[in-house]
Amino acid sequence: MSASLATVAYIGAIILFIMSLGGLSNPETARRGNFLGMAGMALAVFATVLGPRVTAAGIPWIVGALVVGGAIGLYAAKKVQMTQMPELVALMHSLVGLAACLVGFASYVDTSTVFPTPVEKTIHEVEIYVGILIGAVTFSGSVVAFGKLSGRIGGKPLLLPGRHLLNLAGLLVVVYFGYAFLQSHDVNAGMLPLLVMTVIALLFGIHMVMAIGGADMPVVVSMLNSYSGWAAAATGFMLSNDLLIVTGALVGSSGAILSYIMCRAMNRNFISVIAGGFGGGAPAPAAAGGAAAQPAGEVVPVSAAETAELLKEAKSVIIVPGYGMAVAQAQHTVFEITKLLRDKGVNIRFGIHPVAGRMPGHMNVLLAEAKVPYDIVLEMDEINDDFPETDVTMVIGANDIVNPAAQDDPTSPIAGMPVLEVWKAKTSIVMKRSMASGYAGVDNPLFYKENNRMLFGDAKKMLDEVLAALRA
Ligand code: NDP
Repeated sequence: MSASLATVAYIGAIILFIMSLGGLSNPETARRGNFLGMAGMALAVFATVLGPRVTAAGIPWIVGALVVGGAIGLYAAKKVQMTQMPELVALMHSLVGLAACLVGFASYVDTSTVFPTPVEKTIHEVEIYVGILIGAVTFSGSVVAFGKLSGRIGGKPLLLPGRHLLNLAGLLVVVYFGYAFLQSHDVNAGMLPLLVMTVIALLFGIHMVMAIGGADMPVVVSMLNSYSGWAAAATGFMLSNDLLIVTGALVGSSGAILSYIMCRAMNRNFISVIAGGFGGGAPAPAAAGGAAAQPAGEVVPVSAAETAELLKEAKSVIIVPGYGMAVAQAQHTVFEITKLLRDKGVNIRFGIHPVAGRMPGHMNVLLAEAKVPYDIVLEMDEINDDFPETDVTMVIGANDIVNPAAQDDPTSPIAGMPVLEVWKAKTSIVMKRSMASGYAGVDNPLFYKENNRMLFGDAKKMLDEVLAALRA
């Protein structure tokens, strides 16, 4: 493939990526968005492998790597549970960071490129230094995020004394060694500063994510997504590959926008997230232990039959799904109940919190899969004012996102996070298996409110019973 044909293919791939991002911004067009992204990536790989920069001798290696990598990816994608997706995504980000580091070191030791001027050589070395820096932070930060999300590392934030000073000192050392790196005249002399910076960047990545509390992990996942994009863009600069630069910038900026949206949804400061280290005070997440919350009053349990009675009498119902609905895979029964109540003329809608579940859009995907109509699935901001006029709210496997302590208790680790005000409805019903806390590990005063009822049990089993009682 000639260089100009490869460039045309690259432009086609970039257009497909941009259209893919556009599609992914809406559940109705998300499937098409995914397809366009896959087509763009296939075109990009094809044009790169057959392009002018790959020799015939290199193709079998690339095909071999594609087969091995593709097989591992296919296996992981088939095996992973929907609830484990954030862990998988964090692991994938770590690979992008690792790739940026490896490409950086490979570019540095490869002395075959002849630079026409010293300035171009310096620019290339700056690209290598910055690329490895971003890559190493992304790599170690993502590995820690994977550990935290999968419960292998505790969710409690690790707040070292003088941590901001430590970070600042690290930054100064990185700048100093950057200068030493650029001054070095050969690969041997430059390797030491490069290695020192890599170690500092790895430690910084670990420190940054270790300092973040369980309740704030969603923002970290999207932030690392952004970092991985910038790491890919840096790799593009090192390899002088325009497609990689543009694709990395698209991922980097869309990840940053997503982080910003999530920060707003959780009432966190975007800058403090970027700098790392917030969410202090949150106890270990349930994912890492599932500790039971301390009881703080009487709760009123109800049966599935009583729940069905309340729903039959209601004129307006809001369902708030959470992580537990995903675990129980109860979305199809939720759809059946929705259909039945809608046929009876009940105004039934869904309220979706931006961080419900374990990744952005988790609930929207599950409800779309169960064929719940999009027009009754509303965002938190669209529905929060409607709770006072609602007869019944049914909270299915959600906890933190409906916790009134976020509004009432300034000492709570989730203080200030906007929540769905389900307790303002005439009756709220919380469906969960026990009194255990949610991901943020905090007690939920909602359970003890006078107008709240607890339907204890697995969400799928309970909803099946509610459906049977509604049909009876
Ligand atoms: P929570 O983790 O707060 O609560 C989920 C509840 O579901 C638990 O209290 C659990 O209680 C219940 N549950 C678990 N399994 C079942 C089951 N089979 N049947 C019925 N109930 C079940 O989830 P939310 O969705 O309310 O809140 C999301 C939390 O996750 C937030 O803290 C958010 O910050 C965090 N998070 C979100 C991410 C995102 O991007 N959206 C990423 C990472 C974390 P019990 O054990 O008693 O059944």
